[in-house]
Amino acid sequence: MQFIQRYPTLDSQLYHHQAPQPLTQTIAGHFNQALAEQLQWTEQEQAQWLDICSGQRCFDEFRPLAMVYAGHQFGQWAGQLGDGRGLLIAQVQDKNAQVIDLHLKGAGKTPYSRMGDGRAVLRSVIREYLAGHALNALGVASSNAVGFSSSTQMIQREHLEPAAMLLRSADSHIRLGHFEWINQYAPELLKDFTEHCIAWHYPHCLAAPSPILAFAHEVIQATAKMIAQWQLCGFAHGVMNTDNLNITGSTLDFGPYGFMERFRPNWINNHSDQQGRYTYQQQPSIGHWNLWIWLNNLMPLAPAAAKEQFKTQLVDCLEGYETAFLTHYQQGLCAKMGLPDFHKDSFDCALRFLRILQAEQLDYTQSFQRLQHQHYTALRDDCLDLREFDEFLQQYHQIREYQDHDALTRLMQQNNPIYILRNHMAQTAIEKAEQNDFSEVDRLFQLLAQPYSRQSSLERPEDLAPLPADQAAVSVSCSS
Ligand code: AMP
Ligand code: MG
Repeated sequence: MQFIQRYPTLDSQLYHHQAPQPLTQTIAGHFNQALAEQLQWTEQEQAQWLDICSGQRCFDEFRPLAMVYAGHQFGQWAGQLGDGRGLLIAQVQDKNAQVIDLHLKGAGKTPYSRMGDGRAVLRSVIREYLAGHALNALGVASSNAVGFSSSTQMIQREHLEPAAMLLRSADSHIRLGHFEWINQYAPELLKDFTEHCIAWHYPHCLAAPSPILAFAHEVIQATAKMIAQWQLCGFAHGVMNTDNLNITGSTLDFGPYGFMERFRPNWINNHSDQQGRYTYQQQPSIGHWNLWIWLNNLMPLAPAAAKEQFKTQLVDCLEGYETAFLTHYQQGLCAKMGLPDFHKDSFDCALRFLRILQAEQLDYTQSFQRLQHQHYTALRDDCLDLREFDEFLQQYHQIREYQDHDALTRLMQQNNPIYILRNHMAQTAIEKAEQNDFSEVDRLFQLLAQPYSRQSSLERPEDLAPLPADQAAVSVSCSS
């Protein structure tokens, strides 16, 4: 690996150096060799993946560290948080000369663990491993993972569960909550920290008249795009606290997330979120709220002579959020529908389709597949309100009448996955893995690597549809 020292060059108040605490009796989970190659792991490093992914082998070139940050959790100021169970174990240059963080999750207690045990359970490690992989393959900006290990060590959650470690890769672990921590506890660091964020992640902003405003604009745009991508593939993050969103707008910290199956905009995967703050349909506005909190933390950087103007400019940046979100979402939804985005009725027709899915409780992913393959009868047969469906279909055909159908079909193929990670798929893989059988993790890993292509030899019927309505859904909580 080609190590880079970025984070450790910052003020030492921002992190705590410590080594991972390995688990007892490590068990090989899964290794993403293609990603390791992308990250320029040598053959020797690849051969040692299990030692690396279980905290037994560290690198002389990088001293592991836990970051401190703060955050708003479920809308409330939560004070100091930080890496309570994960360590940044390396920053490396990948094949494209991009700097990537390697973060070992479940590596033991840190000064920021609060009441936690510093560990992660195998269940949540597998869920994060597969989801990051799935989102990357779908083309959604996201962290990923090089591999994970399991162990014979059991830890207490709602039940006793095997402890595990995940080696996550991400373009940044700098969270919106980093800025909140700095303002609250070490405001003298804000300017230098922000300048580093800009230089590392948005260097082109350095040439702008105000690099800070340009940076704010970029973070807002990237976040809006990421959330539009989530909405389009039916992904609900589940815990959109300010400490779980990073400044590069790539998905981070998978907890009680879910890929939506039957289309329920007010769906909530996380049974710990009783208020329903982080439902699927709330994500765009929660993104806006989080960014607003974050922008407040840039205010101390206003030039002394132009505070009011700076504030107005930040508000202007935030106003760009909605437009950015809608642009990506509308374009993406029209592509999924196979409708031209320049036609004045396309978006309206797409929303009509979504209302049908909602009213009829149809599977989001499967319904777009049916539309793409022109299986209109199959769609219609699942509807009770046939008049509404027929009117929709008539409008749909009208808009498509004089369009290039081949081009629109290609667009649909590129935007409608066949495979998403349904909760019950992950659950089956987890249950096998808990018996030290990782074959189902491997099957899903391969299947989800190419979500837009049919893979008949790998696929199972249950990958394509939700559980029957009378079967209990897999329950997912914050405990991980
Ligand atoms: P999360 O909801 O997983 O993003 O975690 C929120 C905060 O709690 C972060 O600061 C985590 O590091 C910390 N945390 C979560 N689980 C544990 C644990 N088992 N041990 C220590 N800290 C934890
Ligand atoms: Mg977190």
